[in-house]
Amino acid sequence: MVVQQRLYGCAIGAVIGDALGMPLEFGPPSPEGQFVRQMRAGRLPAGSFTDDTEMALALAESLADQRPLDPVDLTKRFVAWRETNPPDIGIHTRSILGRIAQGESWREVEDQFLKTGSDNAGNGSVMRCWPVAVAWRDHQEELIQDSQLQSRVTHAHPDCLAASVFTNLAISQFIEGNSIDSGLAYALSHTPALSKDFKAVINSAPRRSRSELKNSGWVRHTIESAVWALLNFNSFAETVIQVVNLGNDADTAGTVVGAMAGAYYGLQSIPNDWLNELQGQWPVGSTSTWSAKEICSLVDQLI
Ligand SMILES: [Mg+2]
Repeated sequence: MVVQQRLYGCAIGAVIGDALGMPLEFGPPSPEGQFVRQMRAGRLPAGSFTDDTEMALALAESLADQRPLDPVDLTKRFVAWRETNPPDIGIHTRSILGRIAQGESWREVEDQFLKTGSDNAGNGSVMRCWPVAVAWRDHQEELIQDSQLQSRVTHAHPDCLAASVFTNLAISQFIEGNSIDSGLAYALSHTPALSKDFKAVINSAPRRSRSELKNSGWVRHTIESAVWALLNFNSFAETVIQVVNLGNDADTAGTVVGAMAGAYYGLQSIPNDWLNELQGQWPVGSTSTWSAKEICSLVDQLI
């Protein structure tokens, strides 16, 4: 498979996972035999992407403009996005970006967060991290640094940084054509500062039963669901369907596993009826409608 198929697959896979999960967010796990397998309307029309994708697009545009990532440019874009009153925005992200909008620097906010020893380790930065993997797929040092940096500006918890690096290393391995097993193992052994506990969560994820997976907004749960599905199912569609039907933080878990599965299986593995239904306004509230085509053009600018 050509590399470009995998790069498009990563981006489109992420957006598909977000849109498929959107109507299932905050819901209970779907009962066996009653899984949602198509785009459905929820708070937004069927096929709509949400904040996960919007923040990823802001990050992608920042990286398309300049590399390595400029955190000041990135936070400006995030603050501008927040000001469009997006229908979906995480509580933690809203509060951090609000402080930056009021004039605090992202570094001050990060310092304060770290000083408090907060255990707030949500999935709000891993959900948007994939553009870094697309931009730096064959530059590992930069991939690691920018994966961490894009997290630090809103989610400074070590688990959030580690999850972003782990996800992007796995994506870069899949883009190179490595197997799911070896890509995940590589990511696990090359992610700096991955705590022993988090490592144990990832290692035991494939043996979890569906009913054990919480799929919450905690970043460890998001990664756990993604690793479980990647290693237990063998197509793009089934991998993503299994994760979004765990409910709870379905769109974010869907986008994370979608980026990884898309990088592995490639764009041509993504069902056409899903692809054709993708939609969203970008910037939020503008008249500019984005579908798969516009997202692929942004990928072209990144590579
Ligand atoms: Mg969302």
